[in-house]
Amino acid sequence: MRNLKQICWPGAGGDLSKEKKRLPLIWLGTNTCDGDSISFLNSADPNFMEIVTVLFDFRYLHFVMAAQGDMSTSVLDDTLAQDPGNFILVVEGTVPTRNNGLYCVIGTRGGKPLTALEAVQEFGAAARCVVAAGTCAAFGGPYAAHPNPSESKPVSEVLDRAVINVPGCPVHPAWIAGTLIHLAWYGEPELDDFHRPLIFYGETIHNMCQRRHYFDSGIFAAQPGDPWCTYRIGCKGPVTFADCPSRQWNSEHVSWPVKAGTPCIGCVNPGFPERDMPFFKHLPDVNLPGVTVNANRIGAIAATVTALGIGGHFTAGVLKGRMSKKIRKALHPPGTGFELLETTPAAELLSRIRKALLDKTKE
Ligand code: SF4
Repeated sequence: MRNLKQICWPGAGGDLSKEKKRLPLIWLGTNTCDGDSISFLNSADPNFMEIVTVLFDFRYLHFVMAAQGDMSTSVLDDTLAQDPGNFILVVEGTVPTRNNGLYCVIGTRGGKPLTALEAVQEFGAAARCVVAAGTCAAFGGPYAAHPNPSESKPVSEVLDRAVINVPGCPVHPAWIAGTLIHLAWYGEPELDDFHRPLIFYGETIHNMCQRRHYFDSGIFAAQPGDPWCTYRIGCKGPVTFADCPSRQWNSEHVSWPVKAGTPCIGCVNPGFPERDMPFFKHLPDVNLPGVTVNANRIGAIAATVTALGIGGHFTAGVLKGRMSKKIRKALHPPGTGFELLETTPAAELLSRIRKALLDKTKE
């Protein structure tokens, strides 16, 4: 398999030093555990040093900088003055909005606290593009979960401009490095309805999973560590779009949760973690007496429902048959059951779901 460097620099044979273009980049850590930065450090090829010194002109990355206080934040002001509209802003973490953002102060400027809210809004407005790294920045994640005392919000909700979301808890180093490289060299990558790059989030975990044949054969793990499909112990792979099974983790692409024997918890999903919990409880069953629902169709329905921005409970309803009369009618002519899911061509099924959902939103 070609590595990220060979894909991004085919002309230079993967040699970064043959290329000159270096965009200024500011990486702000807001309400975060720093997991995304630490994951980013694990970039393999190109590695972290190549990314920050050869590929980009990294100006600010709080946890590897030697400068402190006003000296460090003066770098932000210099970038704003010298490169307006030419730098990339990466934000890691949610942005607390309560009490004018005082629940997250990222440094001092002129002897006064510089809040994350102030920094993200000021530098976000002047950046060439804004990237939300990790699920907290992209969708809110744990910091915006109930009861959310700091009134934390994802980056897109405090800015009046489009944001590219690169979720993950943490984000995979290749997802964030690949997105930044694509932005610098080729412009904005193709995005899905949640503004995630399709090159990394274009297919369900389930459709690429090495244990898929166990799912199709109905052989399920009873507990973490069992070598079979983890669906019954909570796997969210059927409704989660990411390339973990093929890319894998641990720097040199060694493993990923299901391969290590634990279910996918859907960490790249909008609404994570609340809508993916409980982690060890399975998605609604779709096996009815005498009917085995094809897994591809579960994925197809989930894809449509996700693309239309409908929540997990609704997905559950569709899969289990608990849905509004109107949608049920669109999917099931009176007197029929889940057999329709098996017998109707996928394209027609999807078009019925789409139409029913659109009708419902008009009500
Ligand atoms: S349910 Fe999970 S473990 Fe089972 S095949 Fe799908 S992604 Fe793999």
